[in-house]
Amino acid sequence: MRLRLLGLLVAVALVAGVAVVASGGGTAYGERVTSPDGSSSSARSTAAPAASSKPLAGRIIVIDPGHQLGNARFPSKISRLVPAGGFKKPCNTTGTATNGGYPEATFTWRVSRMLKKRLEHRGARVILTRTANSRDRWGPCVDKRGRAGNKVGADLKISVHGDGSWTGGPGFHVIAPPHRKPWTADISKPSLRLAKVVRARLRAVGLPVATYIAGGDGLDIRRDLGTLNLSDVPVVMVELGNMRSPADARRMTTRKGQARYARALAAAAYRFLE
Ligand code: ZN
Repeated sequence: MRLRLLGLLVAVALVAGVAVVASGGGTAYGERVTSPDGSSSSARSTAAPAASSKPLAGRIIVIDPGHQLGNARFPSKISRLVPAGGFKKPCNTTGTATNGGYPEATFTWRVSRMLKKRLEHRGARVILTRTANSRDRWGPCVDKRGRAGNKVGADLKISVHGDGSWTGGPGFHVIAPPHRKPWTADISKPSLRLAKVVRARLRAVGLPVATYIAGGDGLDIRRDLGTLNLSDVPVVMVELGNMRSPADARRMTTRKGQARYARALAAAAYRFLE
């Protein structure tokens, strides 16, 4: 009796499966389908992968790809003072570069785009604080980047940077906000946890912790950063490497190296939200 019932269920499931495939209309998987009335739908949605393959579905993640490429060309715009969490700071800075002239803005942009792709693939909604990497643009300012994600109640925010220390060696460090009322007291605890997860994931892909800064343990707490101070959601800033260090510069300027950073940051976001 139970066997016969099981057989019936399998038969029903098979028929249902055939129906789902047939509804794709013979188009390639994921291709957009336009019906006769002109409305379009995605074949992907009718044959959606199981929920378990989209573990970040319903999550909102903000990625801040640091300084805009054109900031140096707009000195008056980026030097304007903006709120930064109980004090004012210049809107933005130019960012650094490798000794060979590869800009921090381009490095952070590429890593952020790769990271976005990875997180979206797992179902997250990803918001970038800038939508272009252009010499003709500046900003946004630190106050806007600091508040990004607050209104939508993002699950976490990662601000991506590269350091530029002439005297320091290679390595990354992660920065979290302190417990400071009324600014970051509410997010300091989860932000510190996020910072530790990010550090662990960067280490796990073989990246070295900076020894020239942040006490040598790759973890810093700072109260002077608007990007952290104005956030109402768990946030960290990560200096992925020292662009003035030739060893880091080699990694930071190649697709392969950039993908390694993105892979580690994606794993960190995933682990933090588990
Ligand atoms: Zn920076």
